[in-house]
Amino acid sequence: MTIENTTTGWGLIGASTIASEYMIDAIRAQAGHDVVAVMSSSLERGKAYAQKNDIEQAYDSVEDLLNDPKVQAVYISTTNELHHDQVLAAAAAGKHVLCEKPLALDIESAKRMVKACEDAGVVMATNHHLRNAATHRKIKELVDGGAIGKPLFARVFHAVYLPPHLQGWRLDKPQAGGGVILDITVHDVDVLRFIFGAEPVEAISMSQSASMAQEGLEDGAMSVLRFDNGVLAQLHDAFTVKHAGHGIEIHGESGSIIGRNVMSQQPVGEIYLRDENGEQLVDLEPEGLYVRGVASFCAALKGDGQPSCTAQDGIRSLATALAVVESCKTGAAVAVPGVGEE
Ligand code: NDP
Repeated sequence: MTIENTTTGWGLIGASTIASEYMIDAIRAQAGHDVVAVMSSSLERGKAYAQKNDIEQAYDSVEDLLNDPKVQAVYISTTNELHHDQVLAAAAAGKHVLCEKPLALDIESAKRMVKACEDAGVVMATNHHLRNAATHRKIKELVDGGAIGKPLFARVFHAVYLPPHLQGWRLDKPQAGGGVILDITVHDVDVLRFIFGAEPVEAISMSQSASMAQEGLEDGAMSVLRFDNGVLAQLHDAFTVKHAGHGIEIHGESGSIIGRNVMSQQPVGEIYLRDENGEQLVDLEPEGLYVRGVASFCAALKGDGQPSCTAQDGIRSLATALAVVESCKTGAAVAVPGVGEE
């Protein structure tokens, strides 16, 4: 089902922070696209959110939003345990779906979501943002072009401080998919899969609940992944660290790429290439990460290519994050299940 008309109406399922901080603007940055409705479990909050964000209509049920004929695509950014049923409902209503990560809390649910969209003939994508960054795209280009020779190792530094306005369900609601692994590690996995065009096959990890997370959730984790191209990747993720800075390093046989300040929602950061000629700053053309991601989704609606992060990408990155969770519980290395192309 492709969209031919010139105006596409979007419904937001979830009156969320990520929508108001980034996604409403990213959708409205696309020619012929607008946000026309929002659904919140509280009509009062939904109406206030709609007014603040200049959205025409607020609903307090998914069904009502999906029945709105002005809505042709939905952006789902509720808490993680709700994504599954909401994607199924949107697919059944024939709406295209951009869903937040993690897609679901288990692989079978994520697969059902993807299949429902395929069966309904609607486009589905996952909103992993980092692969849209000019920095990470340049890293991929350098790796693919042989700038560092055979890639051997990656190190991801993504230990940050969870800002006070986000210190809610991530810290105390296991049933909502809280914890740093499903929040941050899953993004690291996705960007490494993107850079290497390879899949993680094994994960070993330890986590901590140092000060912020409750109810058995983790607020810090260190993981090692083995990829099917032989690369070993080390990931450090946290909600609790205020001054570490963030970045990524890719080390190959003949060179290294150093990305500083690049694990960000903003189009910021620098990339350096180090090899036998020394270190050079790499030129970049920064672009809004979410704007670029939504643009690829909108192009796919017209039958032009695939979203930058597909539904399958969402399943595969989730599969590794869940293996990391399992490894933290058991203390053992966990094989990442092959996900297939269902
Ligand atoms: P929020 O906590 O802002 O929103 C999640 C839900 O919480 C909303 O759907 C809303 O419910 C409810 N809520 C929000 N504000 C209030 C409030 N003041 N009082 C009561 N309830 C409230 O979550 P985020 O925006 O941080 O995350 C939402 C989703 O987006 C998650 O899946 C997360 O993993 C993902 N995310 C993705 C990012 C990315 O870069 N791809 C970045 C950040 C988050 P209701 O809709 O019923 O009003």
